[in-house]
Amino acid sequence: MSLKTFDGSISKRVWTKQERKRLKLDAKELRSHLKRPLRARDFEHVRLPNRTSHAIKNQALRMGLYKPTRVIQPWNEREKHILIVLARKRELGARGIKKRGFFSGTNGQSKNDAPSWRNRSVDSIAQKKRREGFVDQQRSLRAKIANRLSPTQKRKLRSELVKKRNLKSTNLLAKEYGVAPSTIRRYRQQWGIPWSWHQAMALPETRAKRERMADEARERSVAVWKKRKAALFKKFERLKHKNKEKGTKKKPLRNCSKCGQDWPASKTFFAPSPKRRDGKIIRTYLRRSCRVCYRHQ
Ligand SMILES: [Zn+2]
Repeated sequence: MSLKTFDGSISKRVWTKQERKRLKLDAKELRSHLKRPLRARDFEHVRLPNRTSHAIKNQALRMGLYKPTRVIQPWNEREKHILIVLARKRELGARGIKKRGFFSGTNGQSKNDAPSWRNRSVDSIAQKKRREGFVDQQRSLRAKIANRLSPTQKRKLRSELVKKRNLKSTNLLAKEYGVAPSTIRRYRQQWGIPWSWHQAMALPETRAKRERMADEARERSVAVWKKRKAALFKKFERLKHKNKEKGTKKKPLRNCSKCGQDWPASKTFFAPSPKRRDGKIIRTYLRRSCRVCYRHQ
């Protein structure tokens, strides 16, 4: 015969009549000493040969020597406040809250203070969240419908991934099956179906994405050049006003073939264009378009 014990383990030794008598006497003595009904914790002081304190507590409960009490730990204001911040503002789930070390035991408070960091289970945090209405409806809905594929859907997905050569992208599959991309990714991983680089690159979706990214990069660089061009133009206008470098004469103005601006005919404003013969520079001209136009168009 085996009995389920206080902590869920199995005790193989049946309690003898003598043992039970002894326990009952000890409990009686304890009760008259404490002058109040006994609690589970009181049996920690009871010692019986070859019996653990769990076994003793458990046997005492079965013999009706104490009544089990549900431990109610009321939430204090500080705990509630922290729960609001974590659950509502940071949108953490009960598991996330516990994981970050909150509600994981007392934390340096004095004996007279109400404990501010009670150890609370994930379930109790979740229950409090529900009671206070901190549950994110969208989130719980997502959790409810997410990660669930019917067996038929699963089979279909698997054949799609294995037999049809894994040709669809994760996002596309997620849309088709109405689940989160992470779900598809998880099944892919579970079934050992990796994403090959070539497959990913061969997808029209990927190509489109690549092109879109290239377009964006182009737009960004165009914007950068526009800015630089404007800055250079401003600088040239300033220099044109001076139109005289140290120890040189004023330069005649030269018209840019592209923007039509008149700039001093110098290497500052127009890039030099060397003329070669047999690989040797025989003369250097200035370009017909100014540096603003030449460099940025
Ligand atoms: Zn120009």
